[in-house]
Amino acid sequence: MNIVLLGAPGAGKGTMAQRLVADFGVAHISTGDLLRAAVKSGSELGVQAKKYMDAGELVPDQLVIDLVKERLGADDAQRGFILDGFPRNTMQAVTLDSELSAMDKSIDCALLIDVQADVIVNRLSARRTCRACGYTGTAADAVCPTCGGEMYQRDDDKPETIKNRLDVYDKNTAPLVEYYRGQGKLKIVDGDHAIDEVYAATKEALGL
Ligand code: AMP
Repeated sequence: MNIVLLGAPGAGKGTMAQRLVADFGVAHISTGDLLRAAVKSGSELGVQAKKYMDAGELVPDQLVIDLVKERLGADDAQRGFILDGFPRNTMQAVTLDSELSAMDKSIDCALLIDVQADVIVNRLSARRTCRACGYTGTAADAVCPTCGGEMYQRDDDKPETIKNRLDVYDKNTAPLVEYYRGQGKLKIVDGDHAIDEVYAATKEALGL
């Protein structure tokens, strides 16, 4: 199964991806995670990407596309993959389709996790992430419940950046819903429920 997860920042894409990966052994390709790792490592890519990420803007397409291409070629992606946070605009979606077609692959399904904007703002403000394993929790988690690591607030989950990220989503990424609907690949789940319920709906929508 080759899946694209669509939805605003904070909709729950990362959480659904983590569960699907644990249950079905597919590769989790999160461009946000890949970029944060590049920033942490201090690589040239990380230095270039950081200024866009801190402002809640999209990192230039070519930088992200190169990262994804490399990741799609890795061994663990050959059994299937979940793209989380990519594509983020039409240019990335069109490039993805042509890269996959050159690899004799395609996207099976684009799943939109649909959540209202006011819910998103509350979720992002409360979101905390584990510095060690990337687990996503809330301000109520003193330490990571998975590995005991330190929980921190991502710079781009701070109030001044959240609004810009949502604007960028509406302008650049939301049009992909129509892109995948036009290809007959769009499925939608209501993401405004408890995690277990959203996951059950996700598996049903994906026919799993
Ligand atoms: P995320 O963890 O998916 O919310 O991504 C965090 C930040 O990384 C975004 O706000 C962007 O600055 C950058 N980013 C992640 N994925 C992409 C992408 N596909 N295209 C451009 N920038 C991206």
